[in-house]
Amino acid sequence: MLISIQNVCKNYRAGDIETAALKDINLEVNKGEFVVVLGPSGSGKSTLLHVSGGLDDVNDGTIIVNGEEITKMKGSQLTNFRRKELGFIFQQYNLMPNMTVFENVEVGARLSHHPLDVEKVLQEVMLDDLFSQFPYQLSGGQQQRVAIARAIAKNPSILFCDEPTGALDEETGKTVLEVLQRINEEFQTTIFLITHNLGIADMADKVVRMKSGEIVEVRHNTHKKRAS
Ligand code: ADP
Ligand code: ADP
Repeated sequence: MLISIQNVCKNYRAGDIETAALKDINLEVNKGEFVVVLGPSGSGKSTLLHVSGGLDDVNDGTIIVNGEEITKMKGSQLTNFRRKELGFIFQQYNLMPNMTVFENVEVGARLSHHPLDVEKVLQEVMLDDLFSQFPYQLSGGQQQRVAIARAIAKNPSILFCDEPTGALDEETGKTVLEVLQRINEEFQTTIFLITHNLGIADMADKVVRMKSGEIVEVRHNTHKKRAS
């Protein structure tokens, strides 16, 4: 078991209004699984990703990631764990503008005690001909693939993806998803991806559907689409 989420509750308070973003969530993610969390806007997907990745705390419950109970960790301990062990991809790419593609990915590798080979990772995201380019010279899809390579280079036990194709057109988004699928297969990286795009469910091993802060369905996909 790579992630175990047990009876997790998360509330947000804004002024007098309290929102229950996660209501008694239970979920398990196995090593190597590609998990897609679907649901309408406001259903709690981002909150689930944030608490699972240690970016935000919970009000109640337990979260264990790769054998470590992150809900018991304190600030710097959690930050260290996140930096070394977890990979994140967001809608925006957050690349270093004054570093080349290769250097951006090296930054990821340097954070880890057990990094992957930067060149091999860049091949896997199909950027091996763009090593010495700078981010401004790349398209959105290419920049997102650099962000994926940077996250993967540290050989994270899990890669958290928050709407990774949200800023991309459909065709470019497809390429990015294919890259994630290749990485899942090639490096056995566990992937936890949230989206409101129903079409993405086809590539998952496990599809989790959320509604109003609750998990309403967990479906195992036995006919998963393979990356071409
Ligand atoms: P999703 O990712 O599915 O769109 P979120 O996890 O972002 O859903 O939000 C779940 C609920 O929590 C929503 O009702 C949202 O308005 C609320 N929420 C999220 N973040 C905050 C915040 N920082 N402060 C107050 N309410 C929040
Ligand atoms: P939205 O589409 O709701 O604006 P984003 O995709 O920009 O959300 O980011 C999702 C969440 O992740 C936000 O709460 C943001 O603060 C957080 N976030 C974005 N980038 C990073 C990062 N590099 N490190 C940590 N948290 C981040």
